[in-house]
Amino acid sequence: MSFEIKEKDLLGRIGKLKTKTGVIETPLLFPVINPSIQPIPPKRLKAEFGFEAVITNAYILKKRFQDKPCTVGLHNFLDFDGAIMTDSGAYQILVYGNVDINQTEIVKYQEQIGSDIATILDIPTGWQVTLEQAEETVSETLKRAKAFFKLKTRDDILWVGPVQGGRHIDLVRKSACAMGKLPFQIHALGSPTEVMENYRYDVLVDMIATAKMNLPIERPLHLFGAGHPTMFALAVAMGCDLFDSAAYALYAREGRYMTENGTWRLGELDYLHCQCPKCASTTPKAVLEMPQKEKVTFLAEHNLYVCNAELRRIKQAIKDGRLWEHVEMRAHAHPALFTALKKIGNYGNFIEKHSPTIKRSGVFFSDSVGLARPEVAHFRNRLKQRYSPPKTTKILLLIPQTRKKPFHKAQEFNKIKQVLRHMDKKVSAKIHVCFYAAPFGLIPLELDEVYPLSQHETASPLDHETRAYVANQISDYIDRTQYDTVVLLQDEQQWSDIVKRLCRKICRENGIDFKHVNVKAEGTKTILTRLEMTLQKCMSE
Ligand SMILES: [Zn+2]
Repeated sequence: MSFEIKEKDLLGRIGKLKTKTGVIETPLLFPVINPSIQPIPPKRLKAEFGFEAVITNAYILKKRFQDKPCTVGLHNFLDFDGAIMTDSGAYQILVYGNVDINQTEIVKYQEQIGSDIATILDIPTGWQVTLEQAEETVSETLKRAKAFFKLKTRDDILWVGPVQGGRHIDLVRKSACAMGKLPFQIHALGSPTEVMENYRYDVLVDMIATAKMNLPIERPLHLFGAGHPTMFALAVAMGCDLFDSAAYALYAREGRYMTENGTWRLGELDYLHCQCPKCASTTPKAVLEMPQKEKVTFLAEHNLYVCNAELRRIKQAIKDGRLWEHVEMRAHAHPALFTALKKIGNYGNFIEKHSPTIKRSGVFFSDSVGLARPEVAHFRNRLKQRYSPPKTTKILLLIPQTRKKPFHKAQEFNKIKQVLRHMDKKVSAKIHVCFYAAPFGLIPLELDEVYPLSQHETASPLDHETRAYVANQISDYIDRTQYDTVVLLQDEQQWSDIVKRLCRKICRENGIDFKHVNVKAEGTKTILTRLEMTLQKCMSE
């Protein structure tokens, strides 16, 4: 196996991809090299910027330089001793409609020049196409993918099997299903560039998720033409391992300054908000006054530093188990990214299946968008499938979350514990204490130290969707268990009346006795007396 996964978080992973030139670490960005107009020599990209791999276009090489890269070898031709990926001309098909080369020629050419990672001649779907046209690109790409295995003669090159279909999600599914059955080492998702140019990151989430769910998950996935640092975190979280960027150079030519939170035109900037070696000691005005060529190089280098820094942050976030928090931060940079983040919730169960459940760090919960986190889905599924309350218990006592965690060690709970101790042992043995807490829902007392039920921080006040989620979790739990009575300690200030309403409703439907005590109505002593009286009364009934 050429790809070894070292660390995971969400669908993101840190992996080692073995190429014939060397091992590269993912998530990885291949800067696009255009030998005709290259602002930064490839050799410097490795030595000064730390890029272990680059990508170039085999079609352009063949058109402009013919046999020269074959004679001297691609690595010598580019003067680059890292791994080199080649694209086949698919992008040119997308832009110019067709290329005057066939698959046999381009496969042979990539073998002759000695690419480390190479691509078959796929047909990109594009954005402005009808369903019929999209279908054609999928079936033609698939036909070529199948034919390819009779053409290849070298086994030391990693070949990429591209998935097409564009925004037609059913076609992406069909394409990924069929491509995944063929023995490619790497897959790629085609033509998302236009999706991103139209700010449809939500569609991109659907495309990536659909490809991921239908491809062998252990193979790396390349996202073609995704070279902006604002969206790396989102794409990595959805399972993309490899990226390529021509944007760093294209943006530079247009005077555009990339940051992990968006793009600025140089003329719009009063400050260079970056501390890379290029930006640290100059001003936007000084850069604007540079000669054009120097300015382009300055911006291209800065853009690459920014991309690299963001990938390093993402890798650290994967190691720390904080990729979700990182994606949330980036999503606030643009509403289109935030829309995409909300879309992730649709794939919660798939992500939960592949994301680790124990992590180095706790969970930060800011608002209801975080309900899509795998930790929340994991607890919900486990409680439903594997948990049943202690057999002797008849009364469910629901207590709102305490500030301190674990809940059973909090001061507020100590007082309730004393009430329970006060009572006849036979009585208290029938009471089952559960907490209700955001974002997890209902937490049985005996589980409150299980990760991450005590290892999370929640922003307050809670939003309506979060309260509703928790209330629904409690209601579902009551519905599938067999208590005679439910006693709710309720805190309307934090929870409004939704927990009380849903509890009362489900109890009425199931013929369960329902009582509640308002914790904010009177002093602690009165509340505790009322709680004790309520519980005693339940038992005597
Ligand atoms: Zn910079």
